[in-house]
Amino acid sequence: MRFPFALSAKIAGHIIKHKVRKTPKFAMVLQLEPLHTCNLTCTGCGRIREYSTSLKDMVPLEKCLAAAVDCDAPMVSICGGEPLIYPKIEELVAGLLEQKRIIYICTNGVFMRKKMRDYMAAVYSPEMEARLQELVKQELVTEKEAEVIRKPDAAAKSKLVIRPNKWMYWNVHVDGLEFTHDLIVEREGVFKECVAAIKMAKILGYQTATNTTVYKETDVKELDDMFAFLSSLNVDGHTISPGYEYDAAKKDMVKRLGKQPEDFFLTRKMTRQKFAKIEEWGKAFTIFGTPVYQEFLAGKRELTCTAWAIPTYNVKGWKAPCYLMTDGHYDGYQEMLTKVQWEKYGVVDGVARDPRCENCMVHCGYDPSGALGTNYQRGDNWKNFSYNFGAKPKPFAASVELTKRAFNGVSIGKGHLAEAKAAINSPRAAMNGAQSVFQRREEPHEHNGNGSCGSGDTSQRDELLARIAETRKVE
Ligand code: SF4
Ligand code: SF4
Repeated sequence: MRFPFALSAKIAGHIIKHKVRKTPKFAMVLQLEPLHTCNLTCTGCGRIREYSTSLKDMVPLEKCLAAAVDCDAPMVSICGGEPLIYPKIEELVAGLLEQKRIIYICTNGVFMRKKMRDYMAAVYSPEMEARLQELVKQELVTEKEAEVIRKPDAAAKSKLVIRPNKWMYWNVHVDGLEFTHDLIVEREGVFKECVAAIKMAKILGYQTATNTTVYKETDVKELDDMFAFLSSLNVDGHTISPGYEYDAAKKDMVKRLGKQPEDFFLTRKMTRQKFAKIEEWGKAFTIFGTPVYQEFLAGKRELTCTAWAIPTYNVKGWKAPCYLMTDGHYDGYQEMLTKVQWEKYGVVDGVARDPRCENCMVHCGYDPSGALGTNYQRGDNWKNFSYNFGAKPKPFAASVELTKRAFNGVSIGKGHLAEAKAAINSPRAAMNGAQSVFQRREEPHEHNGNGSCGSGDTSQRDELLARIAETRKVE
């Protein structure tokens, strides 16, 4: 099956229950943001910018768990920020599992291996030795780390950890192959770390998915290779969604990178061109979601936004109207459902009811629309049912060629800062101090108490690139 039976049955049961009760609006997936702190500063991320003044705030564990009960969504996507920075992430996962919810931990992958080492140390027994040796052989765990796992201290043994569970997925953020991904997350080596984390997760028996945002610059051929490569790693499924031109990110693009939004974000027309192959991908790879949404992305039909079905809860409360746009925050999910004028949002028959919705086709607005919205067509339910209960596509065969195509960035000396490095190594650049700026950035830096870089600091990189541009003008 494309999606495990128990999980598909739970979601189908939830929809049927509400259809029978004629509930007008209900939640399918809770986007839970326990914090907005992140260790990265991805280009196009609105979160770390929109909530820049509350990056240190966190939703208390009890409130996170209460939010899940409040909206009663069968699936919870724990996002952020970087959720693995949340100090009570283990307790949060345990609490949501106790509530019998399907959990996705949406992570940039950087801290995943650390969390999995914690798991191994807590449960280590000789039966685990073969897997530990395999991890060492594949250089996913060092010899030193393996020793710590074999001889955990009392604190490591008693630590609450994130264990493999059929109701839980790691959901790793991967926006392309190495060069593109590292460029988008604005740090070299992150793609490599994500791949290492995915391999380790699979060896340990975790369910592992990926999520990809498609930008204007994303090359469709590269997405073919990316899905093939991830499938060859036995990734269990993929979510893919077009990027969206939201205000916080738009302002940041203009101010920080000197780009215009139309240079970067997808318009509706461009989304349809990029997603022309989505149904083909849906057959070849385990793309999560509904085929009705895929038809919408491919430009074969219209859908009406059902943002209320994928609500977001964060440090300020229930965010309305959707994950992307903020017109207000509410204390309760039902209060938000009642008070928000939903008919003001979305695009109906090609006409935007709110200009900010014009180019939006994101999954959190439209994925559930086929089943829950007003655009239901005869046969849609069967289509969605047979897709999710149907056979899972076979994993793509791993090959040296495919791996070479995947590691096309810093691994072959073509990192996004390579050009910058070359430029600052010129004698003139050395004279004007560009080298020292670059070296400062490359030095290891202290993390604060919770292991994060706070708001993430790209200022030195920006400063460096500005100096390089200046150097070029003079030379
Ligand atoms: S990993 Fe990137 S996209 Fe995700 S919250 Fe951090 S900066 Fe934003
Ligand atoms: S169309 Fe829906 S999901 Fe998209 S921005 Fe508008 S309200 Fe949000």
